[in-house]
Amino acid sequence: MDNEKTCSLCGKPLSKYGNRKIKDGVLCRNCIKAASPWLTEEAYEKLSLDDYRKHLEYRELNKEKLKAFEAAKSIAGKYSLYLDEKDQQFLISKRKDYKKENADVMSLDDIREITIYEERYLDGNDVDICFDMKLKNDQIGDVCFRVNEFPGLIRDSEEHKAALDLALSYLDAFENEDGLDFEQAEGESDE
Ligand SMILES: [Zn+2]
Repeated sequence: MDNEKTCSLCGKPLSKYGNRKIKDGVLCRNCIKAASPWLTEEAYEKLSLDDYRKHLEYRELNKEKLKAFEAAKSIAGKYSLYLDEKDQQFLISKRKDYKKENADVMSLDDIREITIYEERYLDGNDVDICFDMKLKNDQIGDVCFRVNEFPGLIRDSEEHKAALDLALSYLDAFENEDGLDFEQAEGESDE
């Protein structure tokens, strides 16, 4: 069997687009459907096929965790934050119907560091506001997303202020949780 042409997990022929490289193979578009949306390309590249199988098992268990998840508090945005204070858990989802999406339920204890930063476009002054969480979670190490709905904000515009306010309100929601202890940094990125 030619490893370059077939999916390492299901063995079906790979399509031209939508495949993901892993450490010891390639996954087809269909086999990555059930994966966490927070897995970045770099995260995939570090996974072995066995790691990925474990990830899928984790995703199945997540469905059970979601059934018990009760969002007592939420902050709406392009990505919405839902907090289950009773169980000290949270999730972040682009969709209202986060159960259908099987959004990853994460523990507040997993938060190691939160950074809000501006990403500046190389060819101008436009920026995006990014919210980045480093987690000590063995399946998802990093949750990073653009806070503004549409890319490219003009600095000090209304939209820019609104996006920054939203990012800070996510941060406040986490900070208001008792006993939560993580490093916090605010900065700028020129990437
Ligand atoms: Zn496959």
